[in-house]
Amino acid sequence: MLASVRETISVATHGVAGTPVGDAPLREACASLERMVSGVLLDLDGVLYNGQDPIEGAAEAVSLVRQSGIPSLFVTNTTSRPRSALREKLARFGILAEEDEFLTPPVAAAAWIRGQGEGRAALFVPDATRQEFSGLEANPDAEDLRYVVIGDLGAEWDYATLNRAFRILHGEPGRELIALGLTRYWQSSEGANLDVAPFAAALECATGLKATVMGKPAKEFFLQAANLLGLPPAELLMIGDDLQADALGARRAGLRSALVRTGKFRPSDLDFPERPDWVLDSVRDLPDLLAHGRD
Ligand SMILES: [Mg+2]
Repeated sequence: MLASVRETISVATHGVAGTPVGDAPLREACASLERMVSGVLLDLDGVLYNGQDPIEGAAEAVSLVRQSGIPSLFVTNTTSRPRSALREKLARFGILAEEDEFLTPPVAAAAWIRGQGEGRAALFVPDATRQEFSGLEANPDAEDLRYVVIGDLGAEWDYATLNRAFRILHGEPGRELIALGLTRYWQSSEGANLDVAPFAAALECATGLKATVMGKPAKEFFLQAANLLGLPPAELLMIGDDLQADALGARRAGLRSALVRTGKFRPSDLDFPERPDWVLDSVRDLPDLLAHGRD
C-alpha cells in the first residue's frame, strides 16, 4: 500500500518537471505536490516512547514508514545525551537506527559553527554531549573563542557557572550566544524542571544579546533537517507531541505537521488558534496517514 504512495509521488514530481508553465496539467501536478509528503521527521520522547516505556505500535510504525521508502529522521530537542545513547535507547524499543539518522540541537549547533568557517565555542553542556562538538571546544581565554553554547545543564547550573558564561559574552563584540533549544521546562517523576530557555533568557537579559536557537521550534533547525534529508521543507511531515515545539514550529518553517495524542499532548492544545495539519491518536496511525490521509 505504501509502495503505491511512492509511485504516485514520483509520477507527480516527474509531471512537474516535464510540463510547461501555465498548462492545466502543471496546476494539477502542483496540487499533487502540495499534498505530497516525501519525508518524515519523528520526535522521540512522547512519540516513540514515554520515558522508559515504549509507545505501543511505535516500532511497527517506524518499520512500515521505512519499508515504504519514505526517508525519515529522528529530530529531538534532547541535549543531555549524545546520539549514541539515543540510538541505544531506541534499540531497546526495537527501533534500530544509525547515528546519522538523528538530528539533535548539539549536532545542529556544531554543524552551524563549522559552517561559519572560524571560531570555537565555550561549552555549557552536559559532559555526555561534548563529543558532538569535537574540535570546536575552546577555553574562556582562547583567542578564537567566539561562541557560548548553553544546553540543559540541569543541577549543574549555579550562579558561578551562569556568571562565567555571562563574562565570556559581556563587553566582547562579535561573540554569540547559542541556545540548544528553547524548551522552558521538562517533566520528571518528581515534577517540572527548568530546561534551557530560562538560562538563555537570563544571559540575554544580562548581555542584551539575542540567542541563536538550535533546536525546535527554531525555523533554522527544521531547515537543517530538510537539508540533511535533501528534501524541500514543504514535502516534510513532522510528527510530535508538543504543539508549539513540534507541530507549530514545523508549520512556521514551511513543513506539514501531525500532532499525536500521546506524551505531553493535552486536549486543550486543540483550542489554540493555530492548528497542526493532522491530529493522530498515536504514531501507530502514521502509516495510514501517509497512505490515505494526505488529501
Ligand atoms: Mg516530544
